[in-house]
Amino acid sequence: MIRFLAHYGIHFIVPILITFYFYKDNRVWVAIILLSGILIDVDHILANPMFDPNRCSINFHPLHNYWAIALYIVLFSIKKTRVFGLAFLLHILADIVDCLFIHSEF
Ligand SMILES: [Zn+2]
Repeated sequence: MIRFLAHYGIHFIVPILITFYFYKDNRVWVAIILLSGILIDVDHILANPMFDPNRCSINFHPLHNYWAIALYIVLFSIKKTRVFGLAFLLHILADIVDCLFIHSEF
């Protein structure tokens, strides 16, 4: 249950909080972009099985590998693409938290 809350909290609640605290203008667009960070999970359709709760996504799926993460950091460091980079990095963070739970005994 804690794992579920941590994972989906970062996927859905943290983006909303960031939108409200850091983006006073364009709130709606920023919220939409940050929430659409979940879309990088499309790479799961390449995996078999598509969804496995005991598998760590990081460095398993193509959009979750270290090269992709490096690209997201670059996007985040450029002002114009920062929101997109942030959306993807939040997704990666949610998945990392999930992996920590997989590898521990919660
Ligand atoms: Zn993911």
